[in-house]
Amino acid sequence: MELKKYNFHCNNCGLNYIQWLADTEEVVCPVNSAHTLDTANIEIVTKIGTAAVFSEHNKMEVIAESRPPGTITCFTSEGDAPNTIWGGTQLLWDSSSNDDTHPNPPAGMKGKIFDVKFNTNIWLKEGAIYHMGAVHGSWCRMSVYCSAGEYYIDNAGTPQLASEDTAVSVYIPKHYFRGDVPMGDELNTEGCTREPLPPGYFLRIEIFVPESDITSTGHVTIEIYRERTCLLPGETL
Ligand SMILES: [Zn+2]
Repeated sequence: MELKKYNFHCNNCGLNYIQWLADTEEVVCPVNSAHTLDTANIEIVTKIGTAAVFSEHNKMEVIAESRPPGTITCFTSEGDAPNTIWGGTQLLWDSSSNDDTHPNPPAGMKGKIFDVKFNTNIWLKEGAIYHMGAVHGSWCRMSVYCSAGEYYIDNAGTPQLASEDTAVSVYIPKHYFRGDVPMGDELNTEGCTREPLPPGYFLRIEIFVPESDITSTGHVTIEIYRERTCLLPGETL
């Protein structure tokens, strides 16, 4: 059911009225339902779905936050390991290490690549990057990938089987960072993804620093919503 806010004119009263009505209700003059309305000019100003919008006292409730019902807000620097919740890929890097695993960094750069996977639906809200001693020219890219063997929807709305891991959204194409940001540089949306990211999709976070950088360190935290945040004793996914 929906609620619609109408703006309409009563010919008998000679007045405009604004009313909220359910989609099952007719627009009528609030003074006298027999009055004639200017039916050619009944305007729907706005409408809202009615899921959980009325309190037990029948007052309208407005939920301004983006967290979907039944989910919990989580802040994490790791994804899920197989068959469990959390314990997966660590969003932490150290440029003095030689684990520069990115297969094709830009010329003059070396890169880390983090594939962050979750075994349940998650809703991505925002994230922050923390770094110390980052060299001018360092940058990051963050994307949503569909895993090989899973389906994604192409631009024509047709499901396509991904023959390889396929980027379906690059939500941070290039974010430069430098110097020390120990308190984190938040990439803030004040909202969240409308549809959850299902298992089989993952976040790819790529960090590129100049090849000469052998001292900078950093990490990423992301804020997500999810329905389960741990496994209870004896529970399996
Ligand atoms: Zn009237």
